[in-house]
Order: sequence, then C-alpha cells, then structure tokens
Amino acid sequence: MNINESTKGFELTDEVMEKISRFSRKPLSKDKVYAFPVTLCDNEIDRDGERFSKGSIEKLASLFVGRTGIFDHDPKGRNQTARIFDCKVETDEGRLTSYGEKYISLTAYAYMVRTQANEALIEEIDAGIKKEVSISCSVAKKTCSVCGRDIYKDPCSHIKGRSYSGVKCYVTLEEPTDAYEWSFVAVPAQVNAGVKKTFGGEPEQKAATDAYLEKIKSDYYLLHSAFCKRVEALLEYSGIMRSFIPDIVRQMPVKELIDMERFLKKELTTCERPQTEALRAKNESYKTKN
Ligand SMILES: [Zn+2]
Repeated sequence: MNINESTKGFELTDEVMEKISRFSRKPLSKDKVYAFPVTLCDNEIDRDGERFSKGSIEKLASLFVGRTGIFDHDPKGRNQTARIFDCKVETDEGRLTSYGEKYISLTAYAYMVRTQANEALIEEIDAGIKKEVSISCSVAKKTCSVCGRDIYKDPCSHIKGRSYSGVKCYVTLEEPTDAYEWSFVAVPAQVNAGVKKTFGGEPEQKAATDAYLEKIKSDYYLLHSAFCKRVEALLEYSGIMRSFIPDIVRQMPVKELIDMERFLKKELTTCERPQTEALRAKNESYKTKN
C-alpha cells in the first residue's frame, strides 16, 4: 500500500531526470537510475491517535525533498539509501477520512543509483514487498480535537481515542518545522500509509518518552476523576453542594482536591460544628424554597 502499486511503470522522463540531477553529484544516465513513488503520510488518524493537517502535509511536501531514506530494518537493505527528489500532495476526491475531511496523502518520489548491491532490494520494491515507511519530523504544534488547546503549551486532560460528548479525541500535528529522514519499517503507525512518525531528538527515545507521558496523563486523569468524585460526595454530604460546584471542582488540580477532601472530612468528623449545621440548615431551607 505504501510504495505505490505501479512502481514498475514509473517512467524516467527527461523532466524526472532533470529533478534527480539536482541531487546527484555527477550526471546520471537513465539506465543507472531506479526511481519509485512512496506514500509518506496522510491525514487519517493513525494508531497513535494523531493525524497531520492539510497544511502540515503541504509543508512536509517541501521539507522532505532532498531527504534520504534508509532500508535499515531489513538485513538485505542495510546501508542502502534512496533520496527523495520530488513530493506531491494528492487528494482522493472519492474518499473521506474518519472525521469527514477529504482524504489527502503525501507521495514522495525517490531514486537510487543502481548497483549490484541494491539489485535485490530494487526487485523487492518492484514486487511490492517493501511497503511500510516511517518518517521523522518535528512539529511546533499539537492540537487536541476536543478542546482545541495546543497540548505542547497547555496540556489538557483529554485522552486520545476516547469520546467526549460525542467528540472523539485525537491530536492534530501542525506546523512542521523540520523533516529528518524516512525509513522502511516492519510495523506501521499510520493505518493507511503505514507511516510511523517521530518528533525530534532520538526517535526511539522520544517514542518511549511519549508513551510514558501518555501513561502519566492517563493515570493523572483517573486520579483526578476519583478525587473530584470524593470531594463532590463530601460536599453533597455536608449539604453545601450547588449545581455550579462540580464545574469548579473539576477545574481544581489534584493537590487542591486532596487538601479540600482533608478539610471537608475534618469538618464532618469534628462532631456537629455549628458552622456545618448552619450550612446544612441554609441548604435545607434553600431546597425547601425550590
Ligand atoms: Zn483537550
């Protein structure tokens, strides 16, 4: 799916050769060049719950020209490289993404200088065996689909893949600042293109950090929800719950919720303090009036 099906039919026109010549140190003849199209990414939500925006894909199209791809994950392709000489953003008019936008993808055109060493690899590409591509790039902005916040600057508690009042949470990758490399891998992150993205730094280390942060975020969310419920229950029991209070409680960080819970428990267990009774009475009269 990734290396476009029609690799064999890829024609080395004069225009294509002209583009390739911009990257080769010496002039190349057509029989020395092998070129193939490869899908780098698309705007569908991937396995990480992330997607590229149309603007990002357009920016990546310019950033990836000239970038080298490696076939490092396959012993046969070790030390083999291909270079992107052109990129095109393609729109599939008849297809929509899972969130209802027109499906677009980034197709890169890459070339290799034919050698004895890469003969087998070229055959594999022609046969469509090498299908999965991973890209490394950095983005300046990651936006939450639920609240629209840039989670780099202002992290939110929404969790990718979950739905909030019918809105599915995913993260949009915006404003790419650099493209590093692309490589062929075994397990793709993107559902369609088989693309795995990494952002800045050491790709694997970054992926591990992202996974760790994702887990902390998820744990924090659970902890926060649990404390909110406990504080709300205590407020209810104290008779000071009002309809607007849960909204305020949910804005409080866990540390304040812990302090609040401690305070409320103390209030409730210190036997029948007058102010608690007063509050309860006030609340009861409030309820009666309604
Ligand atoms: Zn959010």
